[in-house]
Amino acid sequence: MPDEKSIENVVIVGSGPAGWTAAIYAARANLNPLVFPGRAVSKDLVPGGQLMLTTDVENYPGFPEGVDGQQMMTKFFEQAMRFGTRVVTDDGPVTETVAGLYSPFQSVAEIDLSKRPFRLKGDGGYEAFAHSVIIATGAKANWLGLENEQRLAQGGGGVSACAVCDGALPIFRDKELAVVGGGDSAVEEATYLTKFAAKVYMIHRRDALRASKIMAERAKSNEKIDILWNKTIKDIHGEEMITGVTLTDTQTGEDSKLPLGGLFMAIGHTPATEFLNGQLELDEKKYIKLADPYRSTTNIEGVFAAGDCVDSVYRQAITAAGMGCKAAIDAERWLGEQGVE
Ligand code: NAP
Repeated sequence: MPDEKSIENVVIVGSGPAGWTAAIYAARANLNPLVFPGRAVSKDLVPGGQLMLTTDVENYPGFPEGVDGQQMMTKFFEQAMRFGTRVVTDDGPVTETVAGLYSPFQSVAEIDLSKRPFRLKGDGGYEAFAHSVIIATGAKANWLGLENEQRLAQGGGGVSACAVCDGALPIFRDKELAVVGGGDSAVEEATYLTKFAAKVYMIHRRDALRASKIMAERAKSNEKIDILWNKTIKDIHGEEMITGVTLTDTQTGEDSKLPLGGLFMAIGHTPATEFLNGQLELDEKKYIKLADPYRSTTNIEGVFAAGDCVDSVYRQAITAAGMGCKAAIDAERWLGEQGVE
């Protein structure tokens, strides 16, 4: 059992907009938060979740000219650090990091929420005990797993997993674009893209949409949307920028080429909740179930959750940041009720 003084007030797991916002609020409330941010994409970058894979963010309020996703998350990180947040690196918790030369950051490898204080252990071996925990581990968009896909997605080459985030960029204006998937997201994203695109194809692997009836009707009746049924993508073409895809017809096995100026995945998301090993109540899609939908409380007292790991609907940086703020305030109030300073 750790001695009382070494028990953290609040440990935050995750480093997207929800995690860093929770850290900013908790630090400013003098809770001295500790963050297990997860491994960064590379040594010279801060950990920042899905936005580290995005180029321009044009819909985050406060940035009228738009902001690069990596720059934005670096600012979130710096703001959290400015108020004394500690982050767990392979050298242990640090309060200062050198720009451009960050230490490797730790993810949570083990977590025990069965009793208080809660116990967390990083993948670099650092162990922490906490009175309260905020889970903000986000979700990952599902990808097809094809060659070229990640290279074109990360290099601003016209492949994306978020039409609402990227669709309005000038590179997609008046182009022929495609959305992969047949669910509500695919319809929503295709409909959104028709505002900018010359034409939008929906590429779906079956002969019926999974989307709700009303959404399916919306896609079918939109003159700019053309649904390509029973098609899977075999190849994505392009060097700097996508030029098109090779499709395979699932009924005939025939291949065909489709020239494209942009490709958007809408084949679902996977929340990063596996590391919880069933200790928190999840919904049928593995998102953390909130005890009260207007708060950040979970089925375990003292454990709060925020951001895309609880949200299968909005999935925006601004909504995740708002939830991170709520989680820090909920944790602060709960700690106060427990008599923890
Ligand atoms: P979803 O309902 O799971 O649909 C995913 C789609 O992607 C399905 O059509 C699926 O095909 C396809 N797919 C999955 N893996 C694939 C692969 N490897 N290759 C090709 N296609 C693949 O996910 P979602 O559309 O993101 O929706 C998630 C939840 O949010 C749903 O409950 C949805 O109703 C809700 N949502 C609601 C709204 C709204 O009401 N406005 C908007 C967005 C999302 P199959 O159909 O063949 O399985």
